Parts: sequence; C-alpha cells; structure tokens
Amino acid sequence: MEALAYLDIHTHNRIEADSSVSVASLSMEEIQQEQTSKKFSSAGIHPWWVEDVSLEEIEKLKGHIENMVKAGRLWGIGETGFDRSYPEFFELQKVLFDWHVDLSENFKLPLVIHNVRSGSDFLEILKKKKPIMPWIFHDFRGNEELVKSLLQLHSSCFFSFGISLDNSPQIRELLPLIPIENIFFETDNQKHLDIHDIYLRAAEQLKVDVEFLKSQIWHNFKKLTPLPQ
Ligand SMILES: [Zn+2]
Repeated sequence: MEALAYLDIHTHNRIEADSSVSVASLSMEEIQQEQTSKKFSSAGIHPWWVEDVSLEEIEKLKGHIENMVKAGRLWGIGETGFDRSYPEFFELQKVLFDWHVDLSENFKLPLVIHNVRSGSDFLEILKKKKPIMPWIFHDFRGNEELVKSLLQLHSSCFFSFGISLDNSPQIRELLPLIPIENIFFETDNQKHLDIHDIYLRAAEQLKVDVEFLKSQIWHNFKKLTPLPQ
C-alpha cells in the first residue's frame, strides 16, 4: 500500500516537501492577482495587514477574495483573527473577522484562525454568531481550558500545531489532552520546518504510529468540507 501524504493544514511556503499536501495561505500579492496555484488555498486579510494597508486597499482585497470564493477556487477562508499585541487595531480586526465568518458560513468553507492572546474574544463571538462551519485555530497556543470552552460552544473547532511542538513544553503537554479528531499540523511561515518532523514529534507525544496519525489527520480533513478530495 502506498504511504499516505503528510497533510499540512496551513502554510505560507510554496515549495511542498516530498509526499506532503498543503493548504496554501495566500499572500497579499496572490490575492491581488487572484492566483490560486495549489489544489487547496485559503485567503483572508491577516490581522497584521491592517497595520500596513489602507481601508481602500482592504476593500479591494475583500473584492478579490469574494471573486475567488464565487469561482469556487478557495478551499477555505483566512487566516483571520485577532492579535491582542496590537490593541489599536482591535476594532478593525473585529469588523474584518465578522466579514470572514459570514463569508465562511455563506459559502460553506472552513475558517482558518489566527489567535494571539484572544481566546475570550472568540468565545464571545461564538456565543453571538453560533457558526456551523469548522473553525481551525492555527498555531494554537491556548490551554486545555480554552480548548474545552471552545469545543463546548462549537464542536467543529480544530487546533493546529507546528513549531510549538519543538519549542514549547506546554504545547507538547497539551497535545494529548485534545481529542485526536480535532487536531491538525502545519508549517505556517517556518521556512526550515519539515512537516514530516512535526508528525514525528506529535506521534511520539501521542504514543501512536506516524502512519496511523497521517490517516487520522486525513480523516479529520475530509470532515471539513463536502468537496471531493
Ligand atoms: Zn500563518
């Protein structure tokens, strides 16, 4: 039997490692050119971009994203979310996050979420908006309590891990406490991080076989969208 590929749920890199399949998070330039060169792409207005681009440019980016969604060229929406280290942009990030959630719900696409110290903000929004589509928290850095609260409000929350499995003992301890049906792995913007190594590290931590882990992650991935894989 042919070995399964390693699924990378969130990457900004465009060179795929051997035997891996990734969801490409589109850059600002790729969005402007409506360029989706990979099989799986997601597009959103990153919460950091609001520092560098004008409101007019944001509106243009929104238009490009909507075009791609309507043409059926996106697998997911995002990344979008909050970064509490930039309190001056919080209000704008909130308006934009709402826009992304509506797009994800209306077009039935998963949402990829950036969360820096904003766990309680997402809990508030879940209570109000009650979304149905999956929410994938990329590079999740929260604790077990936050995982439980999020899953209680929205059972279709997923938690993705990457470099933190290498450099954070807390995250290594957290991983086995999360239901295995709700996890993913990613390389994000780490140029020298190999997705194979992340799976190896995670398998060790979860005390499972790497092949088993890969098949579990594909199973999780297929639950996210009704699209044929
Ligand atoms: Zn990212």
